[in-house]
Amino acid sequence: MRVHKIASIPADGIGPEVISAGLEVLEALSRRIGGFRLEVEHFPWNSDYYLEHGHYIPPGGLERLKQFDAIFFGAVGSQKVPDDVSLWGLRLPIAQGFDQYANVRPARVLPGVKSPLHQGSAIDWIIVRENSEGEYAGNGGRVHRGLPTEVGTETAVFTRVGVERIHRFAFELARTRPRKRLTLVTKSNAQRFGMVLWDEIFFEVAKQYPDVQTDRELVDAVTTRMVLKPHTLDVIVGTNLHADILSDLAAALSGSLGIGPTANINPERNFPSMFEPIHGSAFDITGKGIANPIATFWTAAMMLEHLGEQEAARALMKAIEQVTASGIHTPDLGGSATTADVTRAVCERING
Ligand code: ATP
Repeated sequence: MRVHKIASIPADGIGPEVISAGLEVLEALSRRIGGFRLEVEHFPWNSDYYLEHGHYIPPGGLERLKQFDAIFFGAVGSQKVPDDVSLWGLRLPIAQGFDQYANVRPARVLPGVKSPLHQGSAIDWIIVRENSEGEYAGNGGRVHRGLPTEVGTETAVFTRVGVERIHRFAFELARTRPRKRLTLVTKSNAQRFGMVLWDEIFFEVAKQYPDVQTDRELVDAVTTRMVLKPHTLDVIVGTNLHADILSDLAAALSGSLGIGPTANINPERNFPSMFEPIHGSAFDITGKGIANPIATFWTAAMMLEHLGEQEAARALMKAIEQVTASGIHTPDLGGSATTADVTRAVCERING
């Protein structure tokens, strides 16, 4: 029996609702497929915990997390804590501390789901987001606080090592896809240093992947291409900020923010990788039992794939697609099903 140790961090907002639904589905899968078992430990780190203890991650917390095979994460963000404090208190220390430099975000219109685009069925993308440096490197400061002369700087950091490894990851991924296409997204007309370095290294790495067809797009232009010519895109590689924005657009074009999954991968496997839905805390629907759990289920399928449980990952994706095709949809997709209804339906399909 293969045992995978999972750290569950549901955190804030709808996080606990979708993570418990995700764990239910994972449990059904391991019973049905057999051969593996998930040993799940729950971590109560969230914004209430922060308000009580003064920290999201207690001393030694990252060391404890390091012992796990994967992290299953909900969402962080609370109306009681400034967003930059919650993000830098919980999600970013894990992603950066564990060198999860490849953020992988697939987007596809699942069967039965309506895209706001009439060519929505052409969406089949994976956005690869650089996840360790760039605009979110945390390099900046504020001086003369509160004075008329106050200054804030936010300096993006692009290193040759950081850029090369994300490009290599994106090329390797593009190579596994039927269309083998990779689009580089930067803004190297207006930003002449870091972005030009991104472009240069991309084309250096490209020489080692002659089987991958490449092209290049400015970040503003790629938004129109995503909307008007979705079929021309396959894998997209972009910086931390650019790809963050593009993946929300991709999720919305795929039907809802409640569908998109994410994997924060440490490709060398020196540290656990972290799996989370793209969406955030969604305060407007928290506690109502109507959060769409599909993003979390798809995220769970990515986690299973990473853990080497390919059969279970395929079975989960099949069950998800059967349920979306059958019209059991939460309100964000125009339906009236609850989180529990969708979870039950997916478990039933798994149990066959
Ligand atoms: P963050 O700043 O962390 O990205 P946010 O609250 O600004 O979070 P999201 O939580 O990502 O934004 O969601 C924006 C809106 O999309 C929510 O208010 C909610 O209406 C909808 N939404 C997001 N996730 C889901 C979901 N799983 N199910 C249903 N609706 C969702």
